[in-house]
Amino acid sequence: MSQVLVVEDEAAIAELIAINLRHAGHEVVLAASAEQAQDQVDAVLPDLILLDWMLPGQSGIMLARQWRQSARTRDLPIIMLTARAEESDKIVGLDAGADDYLTKPFSTGELLARVRALLRRSAPDALDAPVEVGPLRLDPATHRVSRAGTEVKVGPTEFRLLHFFMTHPERVHSRSQLLDRVWGDHVFIEERTVDVHVKRLREALAPADCAAMIETVRGAGYRFTAGITPH
Ligand code: CA
Repeated sequence: MSQVLVVEDEAAIAELIAINLRHAGHEVVLAASAEQAQDQVDAVLPDLILLDWMLPGQSGIMLARQWRQSARTRDLPIIMLTARAEESDKIVGLDAGADDYLTKPFSTGELLARVRALLRRSAPDALDAPVEVGPLRLDPATHRVSRAGTEVKVGPTEFRLLHFFMTHPERVHSRSQLLDRVWGDHVFIEERTVDVHVKRLREALAPADCAAMIETVRGAGYRFTAGITPH
């Protein structure tokens, strides 16, 4: 599941975009101004930003330029949204650092296709491909985790954590690495939060006899491994 930040001051358009993105399985955060967008980005780095060109106060173009100049936000995938359709304006948008460009009015299908394409280019982890490690299967498209056809119930954060573990198995991840990769660089979260969610994930996996797939590596962090006892 990817988090998409929608920066759009027209509430009706923002809501329409949000509904469609949520329906497609994305987590959506809304911002109605450049200031709100900056606050959101300071708190959590999203996986992708839909950025309206014309905003009250600072424009989307200025915001994109600003993000491209900061090391933390340099690689943020950005799709500019705008009513301007002229070729020269598109060039200004792309020069400011937008990765792609959508001219209003756009169809839902085109919006979702562009979001998918940019996520695929920028974050292979966000791909909807099912992952299998040992007996465990996780399907990001349907948000299901299962072992031998039996469903395992996990909460949203545990799902993201498990997805990261399963796409990066047999490696030790420190708590700060997990915070960066799973919580998206959230500056307010303490490292022990990771332990809480690992505990919950183990509890969720226990009925499927998969809790032992998450190993605690003393003084280092956690490792997800396929080598567990048979069912
Ligand atoms: Ca606008």
